[in-house]
Amino acid sequence: MREFAPITRHDNGWIQARVPLPFALRWVNAYLLPGESGWTLIDPGLRSPVTEAFWEARLPELGIGWRDVCAIVLTHHHPDHYGLSGWLQERTGAPVYMSETARHYAMRMWGEEERRSPLFSEALVEAFRDHGLPEPLIEGLRGHISGVFGQVLPHPADVRPLPPPGETFRMAGAEWELIGGEGHAPSHIAFYDPARGVALCGDQVLPDITPNIGWMPDSDPDPLGSYLSSLRAMLPLGGVFAYPGHRDPFADLAGRAAALLEHHDRRLLRMLELIEEAGALTAFELCERLFGARLRGNPHNLRFAMAETIAHLVRLELSGAAKRWIGPGPEGRDVVRFSKAAVICGA
Ligand SMILES: [Zn+2]
Repeated sequence: MREFAPITRHDNGWIQARVPLPFALRWVNAYLLPGESGWTLIDPGLRSPVTEAFWEARLPELGIGWRDVCAIVLTHHHPDHYGLSGWLQERTGAPVYMSETARHYAMRMWGEEERRSPLFSEALVEAFRDHGLPEPLIEGLRGHISGVFGQVLPHPADVRPLPPPGETFRMAGAEWELIGGEGHAPSHIAFYDPARGVALCGDQVLPDITPNIGWMPDSDPDPLGSYLSSLRAMLPLGGVFAYPGHRDPFADLAGRAAALLEHHDRRLLRMLELIEEAGALTAFELCERLFGARLRGNPHNLRFAMAETIAHLVRLELSGAAKRWIGPGPEGRDVVRFSKAAVICGA
């Protein structure tokens, strides 16, 4: 029988289940919170035969029946958090709660319309091509994007909107303040319980690793700027104990948010240096300088590294440090390049 990562029962009665992932993050944390009317399940994982086997084995071991799960709550729409929610709803009958925007993106990216006519994924592929992604890598990217459908279907049928950020939401016997976050995923929601000084922070703040900054066409035009603003808004929270979507729970949510702010400042400076050294770079060229050419063999990582790089370049452009221009690329088509903006003395 397959060995799964251990379950952790925390002192507050919460259960941290490390749901396996088929990529470098290794697992996503699902949390089971006890309450008067049953268990609330936060972020159940992406769908695969392995994760189905995981829950089929884990819940009985924990003494929890399918029908003991009374709510499925999602921090954001990414497949590794959202993907199993429909499958679990079929078994538990529990409603799925997520932000309206998260629901919108789940349907935009993996809804029936997109399945019939892949408008979203083609727009993403085209945008990456404009940013210098070489032609031989395009098919791999397309295959990666279409492969996600199998990780997120079926969609949950009974979906209920979470209140907007700033309002409260009752779950698992507590009144939670909803903290909105942008930049990693549109309308990401973190849950903060001021009475106990704890937060379920999803992927907005992670220990040890930096959350990916998501860039998508026709979406937030400045996701890194939005992400940094979301982090700054968390600083007054102080030393809240945080339960993240990946890795393990950690003390001092605000301290980690401050460290992430510094990380992105350093990365913006490093990118500007690399652009200046080269004279001009496409997002793809910069991406390879930052993350290495081995990305070419891994469409999943390539996709997220490209999004991360474009998000930083857009931020540099909006801050006035870099400028974009369009010129001929190595494959005979025009591409978007970025150069360091000239400093105008006395301006
Ligand atoms: Zn995520």
